[in-house]
Amino acid sequence: MATGNSDLSADQQPASAADALPEKKAPRPKRGVPEGLWKRCPGCQETIYKQEAEKRLNTCPNCDYHFYVSAPERVRQLLDEGTFEEWDTALEPTDPLGFADKKPYAQRLKAEQERTGMRDAAIVGTGMVRARRVAFGVTDSAFIMGSMGSVVGEKLTRTVERATRENLPLIIVSGSGGGARMHEGILSLMQMAKVSAALARYDAAGGLFISVLTDPTMGGVAASFASLGDVIFAEPRALIGFAGPRTIKATIRIELPKGFQTSEFLLEHGFIDRIVSRSDLKSEIARMIDYCGKF
Ligand SMILES: [Zn+2]
Repeated sequence: MATGNSDLSADQQPASAADALPEKKAPRPKRGVPEGLWKRCPGCQETIYKQEAEKRLNTCPNCDYHFYVSAPERVRQLLDEGTFEEWDTALEPTDPLGFADKKPYAQRLKAEQERTGMRDAAIVGTGMVRARRVAFGVTDSAFIMGSMGSVVGEKLTRTVERATRENLPLIIVSGSGGGARMHEGILSLMQMAKVSAALARYDAAGGLFISVLTDPTMGGVAASFASLGDVIFAEPRALIGFAGPRTIKATIRIELPKGFQTSEFLLEHGFIDRIVSRSDLKSEIARMIDYCGKF
């Protein structure tokens, strides 16, 4: 009753009451990059000239810190200009479980689609890497943490199958902090097996799969296709693992080694084959395709 009254009187306030507005709904800050000419580098804490970082494919000119890159930007960075042909653009996520956490999954999907301009967390297709035709997939950590729901799993599986049929080398760039997408329950978990099975058939057919791990590659993505590359590249200082370090520490109760779950640590322990700076990535992929001499 009292609340009702105060609401009513607030409505009747003159326009000057508008200073209450910012409190009501502050816009969520955009990830990473504020508008303007400068940005702070989390790697070296320096303020760097944004354009300078962009010129270097979004890496820090000072310390080579690798900033977040969206899926469409990855396509531009890695494929020859004008060669990308996107596959399965019409696949749309649904809400089979009627799932809700802080908000209903259906609403979350809509909000993420509007914010990122993507239908789900993956873009797939074909294009050229320095004039070599490849099948290409990329996941984007900005869309529900790049997690693998049914659409991501289906798109990647179809890409692997098409690469098998058309004898194409396969490149998948992972940027997934979320693993399997819990909003789709078992339907997202089964994508891990589905895409892995397709990769096994691709492998049996003699295909070359280059998996590129970027910051972050975690959970069910790390535990399925991302780890199954014939060759596994990782960008410097990327977070790569299954469960997060805090969860592991709380479970096993021992101090984790320094640098645990970074590209550098994983290279030392044999989990990845090479750390490749973003500026070299395209050339290294092309070189690896030639070197392996597979389709
Ligand atoms: Zn830096």
